[in-house]
Amino acid sequence: MADLPVLELQPEPAGPQGGGALLEVTNLSVTFPTDDGLVRAVDDVSFAVAENETLGIVGESGSGKSVTSLAILGLLPKVAEVTGSVKFRGRELLGLERSELRKLRGDSIAMVFQDALAALNPVFKVGAQIAEAITVHHELPDAEVRDRVVELLDLVGIPNPAKRADQYPHEFSGGMRQRAMIAMSIANEPDVLIADEPTTALDVTIQAQVLEVMERIQDRTRSSIVLITHDLGVVAGTADRVLVMYAGRQVELGTVDEIFYDPRHPYTRGLLASLPRVDGTRGTRLHRIEGQPPSLIFVPPGCAFHPRCPHAQLPDPCATKRPELHALTGLHVSACHFAEELPAMSTEDLAADADVAADEVVQP
Ligand code: ADP
Ligand code: MG
Repeated sequence: MADLPVLELQPEPAGPQGGGALLEVTNLSVTFPTDDGLVRAVDDVSFAVAENETLGIVGESGSGKSVTSLAILGLLPKVAEVTGSVKFRGRELLGLERSELRKLRGDSIAMVFQDALAALNPVFKVGAQIAEAITVHHELPDAEVRDRVVELLDLVGIPNPAKRADQYPHEFSGGMRQRAMIAMSIANEPDVLIADEPTTALDVTIQAQVLEVMERIQDRTRSSIVLITHDLGVVAGTADRVLVMYAGRQVELGTVDEIFYDPRHPYTRGLLASLPRVDGTRGTRLHRIEGQPPSLIFVPPGCAFHPRCPHAQLPDPCATKRPELHALTGLHVSACHFAEELPAMSTEDLAADADVAADEVVQP
């Protein structure tokens, strides 16, 4: 890909944060009362994201990732009950007036959604929509806004940006629409960018390009990125740290190396084993974690993962006692009763194990 031009960035105001956590989420819980019962969508999740850091949040569909991001942005429906704390630069966001939140959203904290087609309005030109994202927050002369729009489209790798700015979303390919949406999200150089499955709808090549665009942007803006995905493969090359979620709970948090080379939760190991093999020597058959994630109305007692866990000791403690987060080395934590005892395993071993399981080969 050709080198992208450097955006003229406004100098960052010297803040008191000094590289500390920009976004701090503590004991976040979200419940929805429904006709069928109480949905515990997010259950006691804590993490922090530092300036210039990328945190990946990974988990199967229905594990509470999107609800977590919507809670941070104050975008949940009113019926949702949210407890805990979400701090941006030390300021509490939960319970903030809607007008205050609106000021932050799209300016200091921005969001990229999975579905660019739904996020872009079909009846307005792409450039006009990006321009609006800017003028909602900043009063600038039209010509300056226009320059900035073209610059942004160029930055995210859209060819002929001046011409493309005057086209409608349907004239863009899926990958270009996703880039346009990223351009819109970063229009005001947000400090925190939350991307919820930003590449899930895209094919692998375009996916890699979009992730690279996000990385380039971060190099320039030193923003914090929260990258949400069901695909552990996506965070491998992108994230600094990874939070693994299961059934609305935090099961493991560690650096990318810790998560990939020394996973300390059986669920993380299952996700790793489900990754396709890069070398292809074992064919394309994928391992899957057996069973389904639970309904968040009826979360299994004890460890929510125990019905699917190959290491579970039943009934005690796995089906009776909810595991605490065990502190391992550094900032690595795991919510498994046997976090320390799990045998050391290389990714190779995990994949080999998975293939044996998938082929149903009985070991002699
Ligand atoms: P993920 O993004 O990890 O796939 P979500 O965060 O979207 O999962 O959803 C977590 C759980 O919360 C799901 O069981 C979902 O059905 C439930 N949920 C999300 N929004 C609502 C809502 N408005 N009302 C009731 N339940 C909801
Ligand atoms: Mg989601």
